[in-house]
Amino acid sequence: MEDPGAPAHAPLPRQMDMRSVLEAGGEVGQAMLGCDWAATPLGPLGTWPQALETVVKVMLASRFSMWLAWGPELTFLCNETYRRDTLGSKYPWALGKPAAEVWAEIWPDIGPRIDKVLGTGVASWDESLMLILERSGYREETYHTFSYSPLPDEAGRIAGMLCVVSEETERVVGERQMAVLRDLGAGLATALTEPDVYEVVARQLGAELRLLPFSAVYLLEPDGTSARLACCAGTEAGRPVTPGRVEAGDPRPSWPLAALRGGGHVRVEDLADRFASVPSGAWEEPPRRALLVPLAVQTGATPIGFLVAGLNPHRCLDAAYEGFVSLLASQISASITSARAYEAERARAENLAALDRAKTNFFTNVSHELRTPLTLLLGPAEDALTDAGEPLGERQRARVEIVHRNARRLLRLVDTLLEFSRLESGRLVPRVEPVELAALTADVAEMFRPATDRAGLTLDLDCADLGRLVLVDRDMWAKIVSNLVANAVKFTFEGGIAVRLRLVEPDGAARVVLEVRDTGIGIASSEQPHLFERFHRVEGARARTHEGSGIGLALVAELAALHGGAVSVASAPGSGSTFAVEVPAR
Ligand code: ADP
Repeated sequence: MEDPGAPAHAPLPRQMDMRSVLEAGGEVGQAMLGCDWAATPLGPLGTWPQALETVVKVMLASRFSMWLAWGPELTFLCNETYRRDTLGSKYPWALGKPAAEVWAEIWPDIGPRIDKVLGTGVASWDESLMLILERSGYREETYHTFSYSPLPDEAGRIAGMLCVVSEETERVVGERQMAVLRDLGAGLATALTEPDVYEVVARQLGAELRLLPFSAVYLLEPDGTSARLACCAGTEAGRPVTPGRVEAGDPRPSWPLAALRGGGHVRVEDLADRFASVPSGAWEEPPRRALLVPLAVQTGATPIGFLVAGLNPHRCLDAAYEGFVSLLASQISASITSARAYEAERARAENLAALDRAKTNFFTNVSHELRTPLTLLLGPAEDALTDAGEPLGERQRARVEIVHRNARRLLRLVDTLLEFSRLESGRLVPRVEPVELAALTADVAEMFRPATDRAGLTLDLDCADLGRLVLVDRDMWAKIVSNLVANAVKFTFEGGIAVRLRLVEPDGAARVVLEVRDTGIGIASSEQPHLFERFHRVEGARARTHEGSGIGLALVAELAALHGGAVSVASAPGSGSTFAVEVPAR
């Protein structure tokens, strides 16, 4: 049976008199026992007002970080967590001192807040307020979220205030570092060239001068004896900390190049002695120290340069801070390396293009030289074949026909080359006119009928009237058709060739599609991307003739492009090829 008169909660613990609370109150409690309270406005232990004793007991027992100020001098008291997280080297000196003395360095910030709480009785609230504390042997940047609440005495008058605080320095600084790394990464992702990389680095590091008040990137010469400035942030180039060049041989080099040879980070401790002036970035005080981090593609590899990080004078260089600078350096070195690879690739492509141009030039010059003797050869050969007055005998005719056919073939090739050089110099401008494209296409394709007949191939033309005229350059279109059909004949041994022209209008924009399909040898997929490059020929392709220079398809592609269109291929070895040219139907 329960006793109806018993309290609903557990029995109260033993008496919590002040002395036993202090004895159980950890280090701070012990230290409070040793304090000379009689010398403070609070008076000796045991004489404290009940209200103060109660709040001190609550504070000491709590594991939240708290301090309080009581009485006319706002005498300072705190608990164990506050001592550990915030008080630093001010412990135990601070116990019993006036709060304005304990926190003299931030009194301009917190004094007015405390006055207001005491004056109004309304609690304060601050989130992540920055306070520069002197608790670690230097003026330290710290962030705190805290509330001051008024403390009443027995009579209900405000006699002090209690601060419950949580220190956020690590979170705030950590988030700031993440943001810089994120923004730098995002910026560098779009930096293609080395100058782009340096521009992004300078801009991003310059946007956050609290973490690194100044910074610079130096590139080492291959022999490591000197370095040149690539970019800097928080200061201009050419200042004492950012000379254009650093020489290892200099008796007093601005930055100690020799020390970097070991491959590790180098701490430069004496900035004030080393430099006439040091930029202070977002702070009033300039950095006292800098960290040099080698820029290496991988650890142990010869560095390509180094990052100079001017260190925030209000933070110590702990593992997190050094790790942040390392991450910056590895992002920067990775970007420099890939920019260099990109530039090398571009230079290679430019060299290839130059080679291409040289080849075209060479062909042009040779072509011009060839054209004259070829026409001189063709004229008499034609005359000989058509001379009715003195007709050639059977055998001589056959011989001259071979001469004539091959001279024409050569002339066609020479003309294509000349065309290319005109394309190259931009002199080939389409002269468009309204054309009955189906008829033109059929006419050109039809010219190949003697050749397909001779080869036993079929030639199917599906070029029904489009029902409208299309603006093209006649000669260019004829070249497109004849090049594609000629190739089809050349690479087909059985079956035949089909030429189809049609008008399509998939999305309201009318286009003409020319398809030349053959049942020939087909083209391996690995070759297909290169077919339209100049001078590209498929090695070992079986062909009806060996004539060819690998420029026919390149010309088709360029002519199609001049009409605002493009050429494509669908093919598989052994099952033929389909070339399609699509141009806007204007
Ligand atoms: P070429 O003067 O060598 O014919 P092209 O630029 O016209 O130059 O063609 C390039 C290469 O593409 C040819 O050497 C050939 O290997 C391949 N090719 C072009 N058309 C066809 C086709 N219809 N069937 C198979 N291979 C083709």
